[in-house]
Amino acid sequence: MRKTPQREGILRVLTESDRPLTVEEIWDRMAENRSGLPTIYRNLERFVQEGWAENVLGQDQVMRFVHCTSKHHHHHLQCEACGRMVEVDSCGVQDSLQQLEVLSGFRITRHHLSLFGLCRECQSAEKRH
Ligand SMILES: [Zn+2]
Ligand SMILES: [Zn+2]
Ligand SMILES: [Zn+2]
Repeated sequence: MRKTPQREGILRVLTESDRPLTVEEIWDRMAENRSGLPTIYRNLERFVQEGWAENVLGQDQVMRFVHCTSKHHHHHLQCEACGRMVEVDSCGVQDSLQQLEVLSGFRITRHHLSLFGLCRECQSAEKRH
């Protein structure tokens, strides 16, 4: 990966956040080396292609970006209460997909899952109420 201050700045902002960010939010948090939003957006699209980040379409139909730690196939879970996103370095649905292949006659080459729930902190907050 070609390293530029711009790219490193964007990656740092993404890494430091525990929830997905919009292009504007990323731009806001970049202290230095800021360029225009289109440039940041282009860099983000490259990160997605290279596996450094994933884009997440929110229920508000706004595109946000989240940092990926794992270089393998993995999934992200998002807390519906606080918006926090957690990465799990495994798949967990491979067996179900094999059954789907048998049922459909398809050879499934890739999949993308959106997983929502309540994170541990929000579950214990719920119990306290
Ligand atoms: Zn990811
Ligand atoms: Zn939460
Ligand atoms: Zn998977």
